Amino acid sequence: MVALPRLVFIDVETTGGSAQRDRLTEVGWVEVNGAQVRRGQHLVNPGVRVPPFIERLTGITQAMVDEAPAFDALAPALSALLDGAVMVAHNARFDYGFLRQAMQRAGLPMRCRVLCTVKLSRALYPEHKAHGLDALIARHGLQPMGRHRALADADLLWQFWQRMQQAWGQDTLQRTVAQLLRYDNWPSHLDPALLEALPDGPGVYMFFGDNDVPLYVGKSKHIRRRVRSHFAADHRSGKSMRLSLQVRDIRWEETAGEIQALMREAQLVKQWQPAHNQRLRRNRGMTLWHVPPELSAPLQLGRAETWRGSDAGEAYGPFRSARQAKAMLEQAADEHGLCKVVLGLESAPKGRACFARQLGRCRGACVGVESLALHRARLLEVLVRQRLQRWPYGGPVALAEGEGEGRVWHVIDAWRHVGTWSEAQMATTQEAPTDWPEAGCDTATPMDWDLYPILRRALKVLPQRQLTRVTA
Ligand SMILES: [Zn+2]
Repeated sequence: MVALPRLVFIDVETTGGSAQRDRLTEVGWVEVNGAQVRRGQHLVNPGVRVPPFIERLTGITQAMVDEAPAFDALAPALSALLDGAVMVAHNARFDYGFLRQAMQRAGLPMRCRVLCTVKLSRALYPEHKAHGLDALIARHGLQPMGRHRALADADLLWQFWQRMQQAWGQDTLQRTVAQLLRYDNWPSHLDPALLEALPDGPGVYMFFGDNDVPLYVGKSKHIRRRVRSHFAADHRSGKSMRLSLQVRDIRWEETAGEIQALMREAQLVKQWQPAHNQRLRRNRGMTLWHVPPELSAPLQLGRAETWRGSDAGEAYGPFRSARQAKAMLEQAADEHGLCKVVLGLESAPKGRACFARQLGRCRGACVGVESLALHRARLLEVLVRQRLQRWPYGGPVALAEGEGEGRVWHVIDAWRHVGTWSEAQMATTQEAPTDWPEAGCDTATPMDWDLYPILRRALKVLPQRQLTRVTA
């Protein structure tokens, strides 16, 4: 059997409910290390007034704490006590929050894992609704040595733990605890309340490091589950370990659905270039090939930035640069016997064989041996994977995402995201929203090639309606 880690059952009393604003007045603990059990209780001078109702609830009066040392005097011993242990508390987030704040102010680390006995009770007794300390006392016949004093409450948790060992056996208890701790593998420098605050639905989340430096932007259909998986012990690669050590804050934005989350993620990654994200494309300088409708006309290199998906003929790309576009086409010609003169990559007097033809490598479109129609058909087949989809509408389209009141409409025109409007804003009109940016559907808006595949997919999966353009 695996040896149990060192357990520190702990309870704190405070001047109120906010770990930011209020202060500790007492810390009580029971340390269990194998067969060895030690207890401790310390009054703490909070440096602020103890509210009268707290005095009545706990029996800890202003006079008592006035004589007590400040937390700083206690901090080194507490930091050492908790170091590497499993801290066990009832509503652990509360106790942990206060201790962490106080420890931070004292400039000391707090490196422990946290086990919440409310969660433990809930896991073992899902049939019961109440899991407060009073409910546990009544259910398991615990013997309080007092109530609302720190050591007395910590001792109740130790009693509860012993009852659970008797009732479930060491193995079951350990398995349950391991399960709970797995989800509590939360970086110790991050506020545990954040985990609870994270929403269940779709959106983007952002990790920040020291000095508010953006470290990572991600998207998910289930923000909380995804964020938690970043810190789950069994998913920890060296890379995510480094990330989790650097995270100091997490923020998020909820979205109506996955498409909006994808668009927002792409936008934020581009804007911030977080260290742990893969770089998205630079859009500037990108090129594409235009294939004109006339069979004899050479391919034209175009700027991918200004593409609107409505030109005559087909477009293929995008390529990082003109050089890359040409290299791709050269290679395709060499491999498939296409004619570089017909493609426009080389020049030769009309009707004369191209250089590759002289070497027997061109199938002869330049000299009429292969028809231009066949040459074109083969070219399009070779390029099929780079083919860009035309904008299939005459104007803007609104794509609906999400349900009910949270539903939004993404207005898309010529593969550009013009903006996103709420259901209420869109309900009254069949027209494009009147407040959309003038430049929104202009060629002046550069094409965003990270959005293109997202929008292409969105057009297939989201319900949509066409809009008529507002003319001033
Ligand atoms: Zn040729």
